[in-house]
Amino acid sequence: MVGNWKLNLDHLQAIDLVQKLAWTLADAKHDYDLTEVVVAPSFTSLRSVQTLVDGDKLSIRYASQDVSSHSSGAYTGEVSAEQLAKLGVSYAIIGHSERRQYHGEAEELINAKVAAALGAGIAPIVCVGESLEVRHAKGHVPLTLGHVDGALAGLTSEQASQVVIAYEPVWAIGTGEVATPEDAQEMAEAIRARIAETFDSGVANGMRILYGGSVKADNVAAIMAKPDVDGALVGGASLVLDQFSAIARFR
Ligand code: 13P
Repeated sequence: MVGNWKLNLDHLQAIDLVQKLAWTLADAKHDYDLTEVVVAPSFTSLRSVQTLVDGDKLSIRYASQDVSSHSSGAYTGEVSAEQLAKLGVSYAIIGHSERRQYHGEAEELINAKVAAALGAGIAPIVCVGESLEVRHAKGHVPLTLGHVDGALAGLTSEQASQVVIAYEPVWAIGTGEVATPEDAQEMAEAIRARIAETFDSGVANGMRILYGGSVKADNVAAIMAKPDVDGALVGGASLVLDQFSAIARFR
C-alpha cells in the first residue's frame, strides 16, 4: 500500500504523519510482511523520514515521487537515484500521470528513469493508464500496455522482476470517480499477460500490480479482492491518518 503525498506536507508534518501511522499500525499489530506500507513524501522530507524510520526502527518504507534519469552533472534541480538510495529510499514513483501531463514526460524519459532507479537498487513504481477520452473510445487497454512496453523497454527479466506497476486511470485520480473492481482487474490481468509475453511467466506472476485512483478505506477491500490487484497507490486518502491506516489494514 503506497501513499503518494504529492505536493503536500512539510518535513515536520511528514514526520508527524509517519509517526502516527506507525503507532496506529503497531496498535493494530499490523503484519508488514503481509502488507507492505510505503509513503512517498516530497524530496525535502525524505531525510527527516529516514531519520525517524531508522531511529525508531519502523517497518514503514518510503519512496520518492520522481527520480532523475541522470546520475550526476549539470542538471539543475534534478535528484539522482544514487542520492535517493543513500537516504534509504526503497521505491521511486515514475511516470505519474501528473508528470506526464504537467512536465511532458513521455516513454523514452520514463524508460531512462526506470533504468536509473534500478541501477541504484531502487524499485520503480511505474504509473500507467488512460485518459477519459481514450476510455470512451475503448482504447484503454492498448494505450496502457503501450505505457508498460515503453517503461520496461530493454530491461532484463531480472530487472523487470524488481518493477511495480500502478494502473492509474487518469479520470479516476482525485475525482472521486473510482474504476470498478472489474475495470481494475481487467487492466491488471492484461498487464500481467503482457509481462508474461515480454519476459516470462515467473516475472509476471511475481510482479506487484497496484490500482490507483480515488482509493479510500471504504472501497479498497473490493478492489483488493480481485486476483490480479496486489495493492493500491493512494493519493488524497493517504494524507488522512484514519483513512490510510484503514487502507493498510483492508484485510
Ligand atoms: P487519489 O487517490 O487522490 O485519486 O490519487 C491517486 C494518485 O494519483 C496516486 O498516485
